[in-house]
Amino acid sequence: MNKKICVVLVLVFALSCLAACGGDYIDKASQNLNKYIIQLSYDEESQIISGVETFVFTNDTENTFDVLKFHIFANAYRQDAPMPIVAQNQKVKAYVNGYSYGEINFDKISVDGVDAAYSIGGDDNDILEVPLGKSLYPGQSVEVEMIFEIQLANIKHRLGYGDNTVNMGNFFPILCVIRNGEFLTDSYCCNGDPFISEMANFEVGLIAPENFVVGTSGDLILTEQITGGVKRTYAAKSVRDFALILSKNYTAQEKVTGKTTLTYLYFDDENYEQNAAICEQALEYFNNLFGAYPYPTLTVAQADFCFGGMEYPRLVMVSAEQENEDYQWSIVHEIAHQWLYGLVGNDQYRDAWMDEGLTEFVTLMFFDAHSEYGYDMKTEIATMMKSYTTYVDVLSSYLNTFDTSMQKPLNEFVSEQEYVYAAYVKGCLMFYDLYDTMGEARFKKALLSYIDTNKLEIASAQDMIDGFSIVYGVDLTGWFEAYLTGKDILSQVK
Ligand SMILES: [Zn+2]
Repeated sequence: MNKKICVVLVLVFALSCLAACGGDYIDKASQNLNKYIIQLSYDEESQIISGVETFVFTNDTENTFDVLKFHIFANAYRQDAPMPIVAQNQKVKAYVNGYSYGEINFDKISVDGVDAAYSIGGDDNDILEVPLGKSLYPGQSVEVEMIFEIQLANIKHRLGYGDNTVNMGNFFPILCVIRNGEFLTDSYCCNGDPFISEMANFEVGLIAPENFVVGTSGDLILTEQITGGVKRTYAAKSVRDFALILSKNYTAQEKVTGKTTLTYLYFDDENYEQNAAICEQALEYFNNLFGAYPYPTLTVAQADFCFGGMEYPRLVMVSAEQENEDYQWSIVHEIAHQWLYGLVGNDQYRDAWMDEGLTEFVTLMFFDAHSEYGYDMKTEIATMMKSYTTYVDVLSSYLNTFDTSMQKPLNEFVSEQEYVYAAYVKGCLMFYDLYDTMGEARFKKALLSYIDTNKLEIASAQDMIDGFSIVYGVDLTGWFEAYLTGKDILSQVK
């Protein structure tokens, strides 16, 4: 054997390892995850979703549990919910046909086949507590079955129906994240995305009329004709949530990008070719920036939605009611979330700046790298800076003092506007400053490293700070803290 052959063999081995180690980490991780098996039936006339959820939980912590706690965000749509589902200024856009309400009701909950005396609590009646009737020790498993009905509200929101789409986001009981043996039971908040969840495996069956086109967080694994409709079953491994969107009016554009089948679903888009193309460009760009998207499908779905868009694993909703420039910005922003929220999670309740600020900045990087869309990074940053300082100046003079800290729970932002300026605008300016300080090459290297180190996990703020510090070779803790606590002097941003 000569050396040249050796080199080729080593190279072949290295390449096959890279291929095997790529998306396969999704499969590998899935072997140790909790599982949700959810059977759903959607009735168009009553706008009711009937469901049976089987949740298989394995206690992989060092703690012992006698109760499991779940978020039931479907209850946030109740008429008497103390926390409004949207801020006052969004109500006209959300409730286009007048106020409408929804909720989730349980018929029965059982644990390992035995009826459970469950209770519903939390600040917004959106935390479900299921006593296990025994102590669940580390390493032990339990199966919780829940039979429920969800009444959908007529609202252009994460969960609800509009004239064109039925949006099913954050709809099913999902386990609260466990930290140090305690469940994180933050209730719904209309500021931001008040969600945090761990990776899990899903199998979701949906019975719906056949003329509905469905976008989901999973792969279609089975289609069965049944009386009154069709049952479609989807599966997804290692995702932190599962959402669906249905429409009778969808047209689909499908394209393979890298190893991912990318589907663009739209019901009203005269620029559909251009917008399908930007989906593809965004996926390609972020594949390079963050490392290859590890899932086989990604669906970008036009939606009846009162905000710009909403991210779910492998599925994003983009509001149809935007001018094309804003629409395209939303598409790119939501695709970036596939890594910044999807693959690497964060506590979106307390650290919204981590995903929203960075997502906004990498969206700007995308547009700066694609000059055909007419954006220029320096111009956009200058505009953002002006908007931010004007906002702070006006509020500071009005209130005498103004809190510009970014790292606080969603319910401590006094308004949605304050949240948006802190998490998105100031967040984007902060990451631009970091990019400008580190230089493009090191900033990009740090992004790759942050994603690779924290993939499939929920990263803390310190994980992110460490990621940038290691690549830069300087401890950036103080630098980040100045921004996060509001002690920064933003006018120094060039
Ligand atoms: Zn976002």
